[in-house]
Amino acid sequence: MAIRQKNSGWIEVICGPMFSGKTEELIRRLVRAQFAKQEVAIFKPKTDNRYSDDYIVSHNKRKIKSVILESASDINKFKDKADVFGIDEAQFFGDNLIEVCNDLANIGKRVVIAGLDKDYAAKSFGPIKQLLIDAEYVTKVNAICMICGDRASFTQRISTEKDLVVVGETDKYEARCRKCFNT
Ligand code: ADP
Ligand code: MG
Ligand code: ZN
Repeated sequence: MAIRQKNSGWIEVICGPMFSGKTEELIRRLVRAQFAKQEVAIFKPKTDNRYSDDYIVSHNKRKIKSVILESASDINKFKDKADVFGIDEAQFFGDNLIEVCNDLANIGKRVVIAGLDKDYAAKSFGPIKQLLIDAEYVTKVNAICMICGDRASFTQRISTEKDLVVVGETDKYEARCRKCFNT
C-alpha cells in the first residue's frame, strides 16, 4: 500500500500595491500560527529599513520580529528551525527566492510571501511573478485611490526619482486606481 505523505507544504502569496495591507495580512497570518504553537520564522530583505531593523512593521504600526537578510539563500540556514516561513517585501529579493520558497514547500513547510506585484511603472516586480504561478494560494489586496477613492491596485510614484528601487512612504508614493494612475 502506498504511504501517503503527511504534512505537505505549500506557498501563499499576498500581493497588491503599496498601502494595501500586505504586511498587515502577513502579520495576521503569522500571529495566528504562533498562537497555534507553530514555530514561525520571518524575513525581510536588507533594502527595506523604513521603520525598524528587526521587525516587520505595517503602515498602521503593527509589528512582528523578523530577520534581515542580504540574500534569500540565507533562509536555508533556518530550514530546520521553523514550520511556517514569512517573507515580507519579497519583490526586493533576487530570483533565488523562487527556488528557496519551493524547496521549503517541498519539504513540508508553509511559506507565506508578501510583496508588491507591480513596480512604479506597473511592470512585474522581481521574483513575485513566478511565485504567483508556483503558489497554492494567492490573495490580491487593494488600497484606496488617493485621488478618487476607488479600489487602488497601482502604486504611483509622486517623487521624480527614476531608479527602480526608491524606498519611501507617503512622501514618495500614492495608491491609485487604474483611471488615476499615470506612467
Ligand atoms: P502594505 O504592506 O501593503 O504597504 P500595510 O499593511 O503596511 O500595507 O499598511 C496598510 C495600512 O496603510 C492601512 O491599514 C491603512 O492604515 C494605511 N494606509 C495608508 N494609505 C492608504 C491608502 N491609500 N489606502 C488604504 N490604506 C492606506
Ligand atoms: Mg508592507
Ligand atoms: Zn482613482
